Amino acid sequence: MTAKIIDGMAIAADLRGKVADAVHRLARDRGITPGLAVVLVGDNPASRSYVGSKVKMTAGSGMRSFDHRLPQATSEADLLALVARLNSDAGVHGILVQLPLPAQIDARNVIAAIDPAKDIDGFHPVNAGRLAVGLPALAPCTPLGCIALAKTVHPSLEGLEAVVIGRSNIVGKPLAQLLLAENATVTLAHSRTRELASVCRRADMIFAAVGRAETVRRTWVKPGATVIDVGINRVTDESGKSRVVGDVAFAEVSIVAGAITPVPGGVGPMTIACLLANTLRAACALAGVPEPALGRVALVDRE
Ligand code: NAP
Repeated sequence: MTAKIIDGMAIAADLRGKVADAVHRLARDRGITPGLAVVLVGDNPASRSYVGSKVKMTAGSGMRSFDHRLPQATSEADLLALVARLNSDAGVHGILVQLPLPAQIDARNVIAAIDPAKDIDGFHPVNAGRLAVGLPALAPCTPLGCIALAKTVHPSLEGLEAVVIGRSNIVGKPLAQLLLAENATVTLAHSRTRELASVCRRADMIFAAVGRAETVRRTWVKPGATVIDVGINRVTDESGKSRVVGDVAFAEVSIVAGAITPVPGGVGPMTIACLLANTLRAACALAGVPEPALGRVALVDRE
């Protein structure tokens, strides 16, 4: 068996197109242009590259983009003051503070200072709590992207056995909540999980968010299972060449899986597309306008 490759680039482009259409209609019919403020502190090269893509895609979708670059030595007080200004700026509907932050700044204080209505990363405890109790919430973008990709294979996730490897607040935990909201049966595995390979072999869907290159092997995967790889790991091969690989051993797992996301070109592009979707959603909610339908993106709305 050879797995179907889930084309995250194409699925993300489709979602960005739907967001751009909805942004156009919102501006035409209601005079509202969603605005996304992105804040980057310091000059971490990976963060600079992520922020660059986010700013470019935001503008490409017809939204307004506000790009704030602060020096590495910025104090927590100065960053909190900027967040407060963005909270009260009516032209800003979404605020994203790129993580990680320099050591002198406590990211928890910054996340807690963002207005939950503008928290398009979905990291604020209010949004995490609302997600956990099944209330409408802005959910984190990477998990939203994972759900959207899984739904291209399984239009309904109901009753499917899902194993999520990794329990971070950014990926694993909110992904488990989103899967529960889709009525999947969820196991949340982590570094202390015993017999991880056999836990994974039960799964109809494996979501790998471990942060360790090629952790999930062929023998961990039930034939025909869907494998969503969140990992982004830079490795250097014997010839000294550097490349990016996921948390799944793609070549061997794709022989046994039913469907699999590549790295790059899987979850990564969906994260940015879902960020745009969340900004549009926040703009609609702040303006009291009904949210446009965006197709496959599960936006956790049970009310
Ligand atoms: P993280 O905060 O480092 O969390 C990693 C999780 O994996 C932890 O819960 C950890 O368990 C678990 N883990 C580590 N080693 C393990 C092992 N040997 N067996 C089982 N579980 C293990 O990472 P993250 O922020 O969630 O990110 C995970 C990966 O996704 C990274 O590669 C990151 O770069 C990538 N990522 C990609 C995107 C994207 O857009 N594609 C977005 C975000 C993150 P403990 O809790 O027990 O320590």
